[in-house]
Amino acid sequence: MVGSRIKRRAAAFFVTREIIMTREKYGCACCSGGFHRLVTGNRAFQSMKAEAERGRGWSCNWGIDFNRMGRRDFIKAGVAAASLTALLPGCSRTEEKSAKQEPATTVFTGGKVLTVDADFSEAGAIAIRANRILAVGADADVRQAAGDGAKIVDLRGKTVLPGFVDPHTHVIAGSIVDAVMDYVGMARFQTTDEVLAHIASRVAETPSGEWLVFRNFDPAVQEGLDALTFAELDPISTDHPIFVMNASGHLAYANSKAFEVAGIADDVADPPGGEFVRDADGKLTGFMKNNVAFLQVASKYPAMMEADPVEGLIKLLDKWGALGLTTVSELSLGALAQSPADAQVMAAAAQSGRLNARIRAYPFYTLGAQAWDEANIHQGDGNALARIAGYKLVADGSNQGFTGLQREPYLGTEDDRGLAYMSPEELTAVALERAGKGWHLSIHGNGDAAIDNILDTCEALRDAGIDLSKIRPRIEHCSILHDEQITRMKKLGVSASFLIGHVHYWGVAMRDEVFGEEKAQLLDRCRSAEEAGVGFSLHSDFMVTDPDPLHMIEMAVTRKTWKEPDYVLAPQERISVESAIRALTSEAAWQLFSEHEIGSLEPGKLADLVILDKDPREVNPDAIKDIKVVETWMDGKQVYRA
Ligand SMILES: [Zn+2]
Ligand SMILES: [Zn+2]
Repeated sequence: MVGSRIKRRAAAFFVTREIIMTREKYGCACCSGGFHRLVTGNRAFQSMKAEAERGRGWSCNWGIDFNRMGRRDFIKAGVAAASLTALLPGCSRTEEKSAKQEPATTVFTGGKVLTVDADFSEAGAIAIRANRILAVGADADVRQAAGDGAKIVDLRGKTVLPGFVDPHTHVIAGSIVDAVMDYVGMARFQTTDEVLAHIASRVAETPSGEWLVFRNFDPAVQEGLDALTFAELDPISTDHPIFVMNASGHLAYANSKAFEVAGIADDVADPPGGEFVRDADGKLTGFMKNNVAFLQVASKYPAMMEADPVEGLIKLLDKWGALGLTTVSELSLGALAQSPADAQVMAAAAQSGRLNARIRAYPFYTLGAQAWDEANIHQGDGNALARIAGYKLVADGSNQGFTGLQREPYLGTEDDRGLAYMSPEELTAVALERAGKGWHLSIHGNGDAAIDNILDTCEALRDAGIDLSKIRPRIEHCSILHDEQITRMKKLGVSASFLIGHVHYWGVAMRDEVFGEEKAQLLDRCRSAEEAGVGFSLHSDFMVTDPDPLHMIEMAVTRKTWKEPDYVLAPQERISVESAIRALTSEAAWQLFSEHEIGSLEPGKLADLVILDKDPREVNPDAIKDIKVVETWMDGKQVYRA
């Protein structure tokens, strides 16, 4: 046990060194990782880039003129997807079929409706008309409001909740990656052997010569070898190129066939900042450090180049209907294409009429405020389906990657306190400039010292006369919090969004390898925030963890860990099921400035709802994730049915 802990520790440090060595400004293992580099040769992006260079800007082919649609639509607040195209004269689009086939009014009755309104009130029925909620209440009242022609749906005792809202994902950055790379991370496999067995099973079903590409392999957490090499991968296949990317996005592994296809032999030179790891005889091992090295292999993978990011995004959100998600977010808009072209991907998906969840997007600071201004992308552009919701800044790295910025050194180190991705001065300067122009702010902070910096920045905003209630600054992840920081947050009106998977997946590592028992108690302090009156949401940070709201609710309610299933990390921070539901519905909607349209089931709001086979409050907390999503409705349309 001790041996394996030391191994993991060494692996974690190894990854840390890589991150420091190769750190780009956005090189947070959590927010954006290194995936975007994989798509630089993608054809769709190449053509978008060429188009932009010809001065065409946001074209009909690619999407929406945010400047034209944004202002008008924002004022109207909440125009449905179908009417988006009305704002785009001259733009071709995919044929719409929704306009005529929708029944005017539907009543759901015979079950339980958890409205998640201010009182968390319960009702017996809900009616929706077109894309809005018409009435919520007792069966007879709702039927009366709905009128004679309404379609009646018998819930048969099931539970209706507002559609889930994940306020921090990287859905656009992940759209291509998810489509063309198979996830083999810890949420799926406990050990390296299981990962290898999975790769072998994929080989068995794949024609010879075709690529097999995997992501999120995490030897720092998954038991087994620290790295994959030809020794493990070649016995699986020498007919298929195999490529495996580490969860950090900074390391990768491939078999000899992949190297052969890429035309890389033992005499290859290491690129500056990267390495093809060799054995004692100078022969390649299959292990690669840093994208400047492994992209020479991965860039030969045809699917990565051919993948359509718009279709990828549409498909990904379609898939997530099964999880009950009706609104998600993009917290590093621009990280995929490394340009504002990411906004075009979102707009084109919205324009297709086939987008099954709403998106709230945050332009990423690394491109620079000027790039976003020049691209004519402004706070609030878009509509109820897809909208620019704020601006994203990053104060530090990640705690489990030892790059979160700490007041005290990391466990077992002399003076390793992590990294400030933005200096306090830079953070404040950019925040002042953006907030001064009305941008809502979302700031990534994991370590306690990073959170100090963020709170100092928020104070500077307030002192500069900026009304923080209009900016709603929130701290993303907000992982390590001291009591006095919670007090400051309350005073300033700063809210938190917790990556609750930190507790479940990394909780034991945080205790044993990152912080020690005492400081690990300060991780994801949901209950303390709640008691202090500090608003908070929960998020997946997809691709860091899976965006499964029911699982996130379970994690926040139980705080049990993946590594030691009976260990509860900081039991005093457990919250009620109702609070956890709020954190993924109404609180998340508030943080996204969308509480006027989504997040609760109240008349006038958009008809986004999920039907569960059980009430999450009435099952064993360890079984909340097993509750079945039976149906998901978004904008008045059924987008998923089990
Ligand atoms: Zn982050
Ligand atoms: Zn993130």
